[in-house]
Amino acid sequence: MDRPNVPMSPEALRAAMNRLPRVPLADLPTPLHDCPRLSEVLGGPRILIKRDDLTGLAFGGNKTRKFDFSFGEIRRQGADSVITGAASQSNHSRQTAAAAAKMGIQAYLVLRRDAKSTQGIQGNLLLDYLLGADVRLVEGDQNKAKQELFEELKAKGRTPYLMGHYDAVLGAVAYVGCAVEIQEQMKEMGVSADHLCLASGSGTQAGLALGAKALGMGCTVTGFRPSKGGENRAVCANIAQLANEAAERIGLGVRVSPDEIENTDEYTGEAYGIITEACCDAVRTVAQTEGIFLDPVYVGKAMSGVFDRCRRGTFPKDRTVVFVHTGGTPALFAYRDELVTSGGYEVTVVRA
Ligand SMILES: *Cc1c(COP(=O)(O)O)cnc(C)c1O
Repeated sequence: MDRPNVPMSPEALRAAMNRLPRVPLADLPTPLHDCPRLSEVLGGPRILIKRDDLTGLAFGGNKTRKFDFSFGEIRRQGADSVITGAASQSNHSRQTAAAAAKMGIQAYLVLRRDAKSTQGIQGNLLLDYLLGADVRLVEGDQNKAKQELFEELKAKGRTPYLMGHYDAVLGAVAYVGCAVEIQEQMKEMGVSADHLCLASGSGTQAGLALGAKALGMGCTVTGFRPSKGGENRAVCANIAQLANEAAERIGLGVRVSPDEIENTDEYTGEAYGIITEACCDAVRTVAQTEGIFLDPVYVGKAMSGVFDRCRRGTFPKDRTVVFVHTGGTPALFAYRDELVTSGGYEVTVVRA
């Protein structure tokens, strides 16, 4: 291994990333917004939100930044279709469908027939159909269903691309770029970050942690994962491994070790996709102080963790927190019942 030459310059990191095939799907750089009203309400540190919900494609989100590289690879391979799938309200799948539409290839979404899907076509799932994706809901083994579809398409003479581990690595590469943007934007504003926070259990945090270390940003990077369980140690080891695979892929000498990663499910609640009261409060508070929407599955829960740390003084008043907003807002509409109940909203009719 080369001797790590840290800190690296933003230019050197960009040059390293640009060695990989890439298509410009995302509108970059995304804005970094100061949130003084939110800071005031929390009585806490300065809070800046990195708006990766505004990556531009089909309501945006972190996957679009990642797909600059995934779809660069898909184009390099000459694929005519892409297969992926996760939960029925998956943001990843919606952004895949949008990227595929823009690239002129067919998206196949093999989604889980989970509780949300039984409530009908709404939120991200509605957008999947509008984007022209071929949508299937699976009961049972989702990976097997994807693999079978892959074989079926190949047998028909098609050239499918099945998204998998390499896309997670490319996602981490993409998020090195996000760290570079944050560093440059903060420099311009004359601030520096003490804490970087985000909703993530894998590639997004891996890339930010790698980028922050390579740039010598000197801040902590905390991920709030959307799923319950998994041992913190195993999750952090996986994130460090993704970071290091990304580093290797783009020829960086820097490596990240698991004990440099912080990731928690403390604010996840009962399970993935089940909203919490603290999440509902975070969604409302950020909307009502800054006019910014958070999603109910990832970002709202992560922000509820930031709220808690501000209130406990873990993030003191004199610090600066950069919160990376990873998107997911179309899922708000699939959580209509929960949000209406939590807010106690009633329609007021006026006769005039
Ligand atoms: C997918 C997703 C994440 C998690 O990204 P990872 O890189 O897989 O950790 C976070 N927030 C939103 C809104 C997402 O859609």
